[in-house]
Amino acid sequence: MAYKATSETGEFGLIERIKSIVQPTLESAPELVLGIGDDCAVWQPSTELLQVSSTDLLVEQVHFDLLTTPAKHLGSKAISVNASDICAMNAIPRYALVSIAVPPSMPVEMVEELYRGMESAAREYGIAIAGGDTSRSRSGLVISVTVTGEVPEKMIAYRNGAKEGDIVCVTGTLGGSAAGLRVLTREKLIMMEHIENNETYNRNLMADLQEYTGAIQQHLLPLARLDTVRFLHERQVTPSSMIDISDGLGQDLGHICNASAVGALLQENRIPVNSTARLIADELQDDALGWAISGGEDYQLLFTISKEEHKKIADNRDIAVIGEITPKESGLLLKDIYGITIDLTSLPGFDHFK
Ligand code: ADP
Ligand code: MG
Repeated sequence: MAYKATSETGEFGLIERIKSIVQPTLESAPELVLGIGDDCAVWQPSTELLQVSSTDLLVEQVHFDLLTTPAKHLGSKAISVNASDICAMNAIPRYALVSIAVPPSMPVEMVEELYRGMESAAREYGIAIAGGDTSRSRSGLVISVTVTGEVPEKMIAYRNGAKEGDIVCVTGTLGGSAAGLRVLTREKLIMMEHIENNETYNRNLMADLQEYTGAIQQHLLPLARLDTVRFLHERQVTPSSMIDISDGLGQDLGHICNASAVGALLQENRIPVNSTARLIADELQDDALGWAISGGEDYQLLFTISKEEHKKIADNRDIAVIGEITPKESGLLLKDIYGITIDLTSLPGFDHFK
């Protein structure tokens, strides 16, 4: 038997293989509306109401670095990224189960800080942390969070409902998280250098980083856009498709387009690039638009909506119109500020295994 490294299949290739093995279990569940392939699994316990659930794994040195991430922020982020997947279905988060694997050397106070962060985020979203599991870890800290939520059947938003002519919308700003990560990584390298040279590390980090708060906050403490979901419910508006931006605007729009069998045309000048990201990009001689398109981890909502429905939410200044859904054959395109069209799929995305 020929073996293939998981680094070769990539994250999505691996998930496809897992999916083909567990498929029979999905077919045996009559209430299950949707298994693998969207932001959440969906099932229907009663008429008119759908329940959704999503789980995420955070692994030390893969997803976070305790040198640049305070434990409390990490706890908050672990809840927020799951709440974000629930929001991406246009659903309201309800319960969380949290499992952790902890290295024996880790101080109890640090675990408590982690849970204080989780509690504060959970309270913010109205989520009850209802249980979990605890184990010792022989490597780093591992955090697994599962969140459930619910939504009236007629309001759920899948990835596969985008239609030609629909408007493409995004909440908030993009690129802040990637920019914040770059600043934090730079600070970490400076600190490591001081340690290696046996110098005292006395940089006043807080004073230094003040002007970057808008980006660092977006990276360390992203907020799930439950406020947007509540707004959509209030206005009785259901997006034709929706996803949260975890992998990057380009790749996540790709997920919607693939699932919906459509193409999309984005306008560069409409993409809401985080203003602190622009500042940081200038300093590091990097490209803020690139971070906005492929940086990921901003946890904003990306959705499509018919022109008619969009009129009901057009007054919301936190929701930007960034493009339009086109036929599948047109592909995924970005029109830049000079009117030149670029293939979005040619830009680097994000794959967890590579
Ligand atoms: P997201 O970026 O929204 O968290 P993922 O890319 O992690 O979504 O997952 C895509 C889909 O694959 C989801 O439906 C998820 O439930 C499913 N999935 C991911 N990993 C596994 C796994 N190990 N076993 C079963 N399903 C999985
Ligand atoms: Mg998601």
